[in-house]
Amino acid sequence: MADAQALDEVVTFTSDLIRIDTTNRGGGDCRERPAAEYAAEQLAGAGLEPLLLERTEGRTNVVARIEGSDPSADALLVHGHLDVVPARAGDWSVHPFSGEVRDGVVWGRGAVDMKNMDAMILAVVRAWARQGVRPRRDLVIAFTADEEASAEDGSGFLADEHAELFEGCTEGISESGAFTFHDGAGRQIYPIAAGERGTAWLRLSARGRAGHGSRVNKENAVTRLAAAVARIGAHEWPVRLTPTVRAALTELAALYGVEADLRNVDSLLDKLGPAARLVEATLRNSANPTMFDAGYKINVIPGEAVAHVDGRYLPGGEEEFRATMDKLTGPDVDWEFHHREVALEAPVDSPAFAAMRAAVEAFAPEGHVVPFCMPGGTDAKQFSRLGITGYGFSPLKLPEGFDYHALFHGVDERVPVEALHFGVRVLDRFLRTA
Ligand SMILES: [Zn+2]
Repeated sequence: MADAQALDEVVTFTSDLIRIDTTNRGGGDCRERPAAEYAAEQLAGAGLEPLLLERTEGRTNVVARIEGSDPSADALLVHGHLDVVPARAGDWSVHPFSGEVRDGVVWGRGAVDMKNMDAMILAVVRAWARQGVRPRRDLVIAFTADEEASAEDGSGFLADEHAELFEGCTEGISESGAFTFHDGAGRQIYPIAAGERGTAWLRLSARGRAGHGSRVNKENAVTRLAAAVARIGAHEWPVRLTPTVRAALTELAALYGVEADLRNVDSLLDKLGPAARLVEATLRNSANPTMFDAGYKINVIPGEAVAHVDGRYLPGGEEEFRATMDKLTGPDVDWEFHHREVALEAPVDSPAFAAMRAAVEAFAPEGHVVPFCMPGGTDAKQFSRLGITGYGFSPLKLPEGFDYHALFHGVDERVPVEALHFGVRVLDRFLRTA
């Protein structure tokens, strides 16, 4: 069991890590090393031998291994990123890097994404050292840099250059799952992530004939690109149910006592009310135009126009995504991947999923665990190259009014102390029994 010291430490660690500003502005502008050293010190205090690893000076990752009691068991990866997205202090009620604990709530950037989980991992392994606990499986603990940008200095670098540290790992857990979703009608749902959509950030370019804005021009690059972008924005992608989303809909339907009619998903979603939010972004591929850049003077037709599109595809949906883009862009517009990441699918009938479910239910008997697919991506994409199946499991029991999704990258990001205590208890139980 998580002892009193673990419950104190998880709050201190969350607060301390928030105070270490690891803002990742992209383009290499971030320095995780002080946070990595802090985490390594806590691991060393638990008798572990953490390695500090950098591809780029200051962009530090931490990896440590805990030997399990069953040498025949596969290893489990437990990872959390150390960087955070930017926060503008003027917008916040409490300074975003204060780590202040006020009225039982820890405030600051990273409170839910994801210094909370980093702190929970540290608190659990330190409690084990005090109590002489050994997990069944080997655990590989990794704290990564650069998750909020390209992961090139973080999990991507670890997967490429230090695969040996993850030897034997078949499954991993990290952010964005097992938090309380209140449906507004008294139900508490704990979605555990068992999949991620893939990332397909696209660059579109249209070529045409440059010329005077007063002349007839049937080869206007701006017109061509605008038409393609409008077609993409208006496209209605067909519903494609992946195994995880299928399981999510089936379990939610059972919870709400409605028929799980998967041929008529829109009507099923209507019956699920607010809980439809847990699946609606992962029923289909998506492509949202986000940037448009063309021209330099009002009476000059430019020879080229460029746009960017944030595309996401379901597990198994990449081919359809490509073919659809070819069709929507048409002959006058080229498209290419500006950045691409794989989609992930993890089994929901695995022993690991069952152990996560049991750990949540042990401490939240009123809660209902359901699987879900993440609309976006995490470090699990990089670790999947090592054959590691990723689950989103960072348990947090949130009171009503704490909208987890709104806090993610949001203003006034914060986490109740009680939520951290629940997280430590659930994580401790899962990691012992997994
Ligand atoms: Zn995150």
